[in-house]
Amino acid sequence: EVFSQIEEKDGQIHAYLDTYKKEAYARAKEVQKGIDEGIYTGPLAGVPIAVKDNICVQGKPTTCASKILEGFVPQYQAEVIDRLEKAGMIIIGKTNMDEFAMGSTTETSAYGVTRNPWNKEHVPGGSSGGSCAAVAAGEAYLALGSDTGGSIRQPSSYCGVTGLKPTYGTVSRYGLVAYASSLDQIGPVGKDVADCAALLEVIAGHDPKDSTSIDRHDLDFGKEMTDKIAGMKFGVPKEYLAEGLSPDVKDAFMETLKVLTQMGAIVEFFSVKTMEYMIPAYYIIASAEASSNLERFDGVKYGYRAAEYDGLHDMYKRTRTEGFGEEVKRRIMLGSFVLSSGYYDAYYLKALRTKALIKKEFDEAFEKYDVLLAPAAPYTAPKLGESLKDPMAMYLGDIYTVAVNLCGLPGITVPCGKDKIGLPIGIQMIGDCFMEKKILRAAHAYE
Ligand code: GLN
Repeated sequence: EVFSQIEEKDGQIHAYLDTYKKEAYARAKEVQKGIDEGIYTGPLAGVPIAVKDNICVQGKPTTCASKILEGFVPQYQAEVIDRLEKAGMIIIGKTNMDEFAMGSTTETSAYGVTRNPWNKEHVPGGSSGGSCAAVAAGEAYLALGSDTGGSIRQPSSYCGVTGLKPTYGTVSRYGLVAYASSLDQIGPVGKDVADCAALLEVIAGHDPKDSTSIDRHDLDFGKEMTDKIAGMKFGVPKEYLAEGLSPDVKDAFMETLKVLTQMGAIVEFFSVKTMEYMIPAYYIIASAEASSNLERFDGVKYGYRAAEYDGLHDMYKRTRTEGFGEEVKRRIMLGSFVLSSGYYDAYYLKALRTKALIKKEFDEAFEKYDVLLAPAAPYTAPKLGESLKDPMAMYLGDIYTVAVNLCGLPGITVPCGKDKIGLPIGIQMIGDCFMEKKILRAAHAYE
């Protein structure tokens, strides 16, 4: 059924970079047999799932939507893919994204843009735009995305689906092509909260192959999704509602606060002093790590190599010049600059200190509140082509999502309304580290 949707719609939406119809049908038969024999017992056995193209599936091209990985076929696969297979899930294809997950619109892909299923003149958000558009269009029931600075939560908001970024260390990053290793997390995208919780249970868990993986013993995420949130304390950073927030998003957000209050929750405003430092700290740290992580793409081991060159250094240079897109080059330059001697203290070190201050503010907030509420993005999905003109403006659009990554916190986006032209709006619920169950409970009760 998902394949008929893909055949009908993906010509226009372009959520997928690659699909595996034949294998998926063969696998479905195998899984059905496994279910009958009691091998697969979980709730997601037999469920088709789409995977963002920065997650390695053995024997399948993994491009990160970059020309530089053209032709790269991994000999190994991500831990999350092993876990999907063990649960009897069926991988149906790889989804489009911003190149190396750098961007907020899925327009920096080297393989064409993805369109928002609600309005094809608009972007689906990014960088997990393909995954979110696929779920929104019924071209997948579930999808995996990755979130370094909002890349699951923001496109989920633009596409009217539910997406969760887990606590850092909860889901193994083994086999995820690294963007910014200290911020990256893989997470679920689905039609509702219960689906996301079920998928998170499948993919979460300790993995010795990822040195930042945490051995948690509270991975039964679906358990506390009672619909009761009376007495739960929600905090709203009041600075988040000041300038820059579009009236439609603000109205939908305020309406949600009302609904939560009517459900018996306590909603209070509090103040954050570090808001203006969140974007600079994030872009310095993320670019610094990216410049280091992307060093390996030099034309020797992976994918693309320039056709003509004059010696080794020229081969590196031409391969990288031809292989990387403009946004990725911008990040590499920014990252190399902030790490270079003479500027390291002034930029990179300062960004790390700033991150510590931001974390302290969130720690203090979680002494008072169970869950923090924020918009997922300052506006609804922009029109195609609008965002690339002004990268700074695009970076500023990540204001509500990046602090969550800097602090390693879990966050979920659930739909909370529509704007004047019918584009979806999402609300973000943020928990303290390891408090996925609280945000799942709140989001489930609200949705
Ligand atoms: N838009 C942000 C960036 O470009 C976040 C991307 C992400 O989470 N992968 O860095």
